[in-house]
Amino acid sequence: MRIESSTEPGTPNRPNEDFLALALPASGQGGALVLLDGVTPAPGNGDCVHSVPWFVARLGGALLELSVSRSEMTLADCLATAIRRTADAHRDTCDLSHRLTPQATVVTVRWNQDSVEHLVLSDSALLLEAPDGKVTPVLDGRIERLVAEGRAVSALRNSEGGFFTAAADPAVVSRAVTGTTPRADVRAFAALTDGASRLVEVFRTDDWAGTFALLREEGPQTLIRRVRATESADPEGRDVPRGKPFDDATAALVEL
Ligand SMILES: [Zn+2]
Repeated sequence: MRIESSTEPGTPNRPNEDFLALALPASGQGGALVLLDGVTPAPGNGDCVHSVPWFVARLGGALLELSVSRSEMTLADCLATAIRRTADAHRDTCDLSHRLTPQATVVTVRWNQDSVEHLVLSDSALLLEAPDGKVTPVLDGRIERLVAEGRAVSALRNSEGGFFTAAADPAVVSRAVTGTTPRADVRAFAALTDGASRLVEVFRTDDWAGTFALLREEGPQTLIRRVRATESADPEGRDVPRGKPFDDATAALVEL
């Protein structure tokens, strides 16, 4: 098994709000990966006194622990429990019903000798590579559909007909993209926050197969360097308009 990962903040003097964790249990039979991208709501976190890094560490830590220790629970159940546990940690001090309460996108993958399970919520990406090299993206396409329709995306956060993130409501897990693939059909997989998938989804200078090949041949650090170089060529987003000219970027490659 080979595992490689890299993460870079979008701006050096601001905290990186991505979260990546991997567990390889002592049984040696499998593992779990959790990748979150903390959403930075402007102009603050609603009525929450905590930071986005505080939130993603709580949520991601709980999700990893549950994914790896509770094999009888589905990943959706693990995420629901992790959301509830994180909400319990600040419901006495913060208004969790606020639309801008801290929240995150989620990719989680759990594998054993028989299967590879996945869950994707919001706009981070999971790429599954088959033994013949075919790369299949697993995406929650809601945000992209809203953008394509010309809708005001931020107003549709966690609302019917809009898009969904892991915030304080465990029921959101019913909106996640989930699935199970036989282990024999997955040679490797990659998880990317939207800051790392920009060459495909924003700049459109690459496709998923090209991104996967780059990860395999040159590693996640090279991918993120390439994203930064592309962002730097258009530092204010004039040629390619985008929400953040530079974004936190995290990529992980797992060869099973
Ligand atoms: Zn709080």
